Amino acid sequence: QAKEQGRNTVHYYSLTLNQSCMSRLKLAGLLQNALENNELTLYYQPKVCLKTGNVKGVESLIRWFNPELGQVSPADFIPLAEDIGLIDSIGSWVLESSVKQSKAWQDQQLNLSIAVNVSARQFQRGEVAAKVVGLLEQYRLSPDHLSIELTETSFMHNAEKTLSAIKQLSLIGINVAIDDFGTGYSSLNYVRTMPLSQLKVDLSFIKNIVESVRDRKLVQAIIDMAHALDIEVIAEGVETCEQLKLLLEMGCDQAQGYLFCQPIPAGQFEKWLQDVSQAHISLISHCQLDG
Ligand code: C2E
Ligand code: MG
Ligand code: MG
Ligand code: MG
Repeated sequence: QAKEQGRNTVHYYSLTLNQSCMSRLKLAGLLQNALENNELTLYYQPKVCLKTGNVKGVESLIRWFNPELGQVSPADFIPLAEDIGLIDSIGSWVLESSVKQSKAWQDQQLNLSIAVNVSARQFQRGEVAAKVVGLLEQYRLSPDHLSIELTETSFMHNAEKTLSAIKQLSLIGINVAIDDFGTGYSSLNYVRTMPLSQLKVDLSFIKNIVESVRDRKLVQAIIDMAHALDIEVIAEGVETCEQLKLLLEMGCDQAQGYLFCQPIPAGQFEKWLQDVSQAHISLISHCQLDG
């Protein structure tokens, strides 16, 4: 799978389409205990502002290290967690851990907002907004230090509930982004109905913008549409200087990708922020000049 490429550090346990039911069952069994066995952790990937080179926010991305399986990709286990009813407990853990981390960074005078992935399935019980409000109060975190990325990893059975939760979150000042924009089940309908702050253009659209005029025009159209509606655009999966140069020309607002930084643990990220992030201001101008 394309998403798996470019990761050089860990060997991934990967599910194939013809996986046996046994392996799924086994994975489900191991996932049941992952939380209490402390096998889950969050990694962070910066979102780089293309106008200033600054990092205003990071995305939290869940990681599962199992002693038997090694590292399992969230692309494999999040859909499974949704299917077997574990997404609520895992999702709550992700939310609370992200809020805690965000608060810790505030206390260190690091002005970062953490974006949390929330799957459509999590909205079905209708408790996400209340949970977020409770966590912000508990950790005394202001809403601009947390944002939500709505992923469409599952078919939206209850769009109404999702919409009302998104509206509540937006009212209390939480920014909402649509993730993987363009690949989803009803992307334009989201744009039409939801109070969105950001669109994240799926990396599959970014992948070929250098070679494909068609893809480039499509991304430009997404950017123009979003800007007309006062929505910011983030490009996902930016890996090369050539891609960055084009995105700068197109007026894209932010970028995320291996070109800047892979998802890494919080401590490593703090170090990256100190050591490397200044280099991105020059990286951006370098790409602008001769990407
Ligand atoms: P996503 O939210 O769209 O996250 C972006 C994915 O692209 C991440 O994969 C990230 O590691 C990867 N990525 C970042 N930069 C690059 C790049 O330059 N090139 C390439 N090829 N890939 C890049 P990851 O971490 O494996 O996560 C996969 C998906 O799993 C996420 O896609 C998200 O939908 C889901 N996910 C991850 N963490 C959570 C979570 O805490 N909760 C929920 N509900 N879903 C999550
Ligand atoms: Mg995301
Ligand atoms: Mg995405
Ligand atoms: Mg994705």
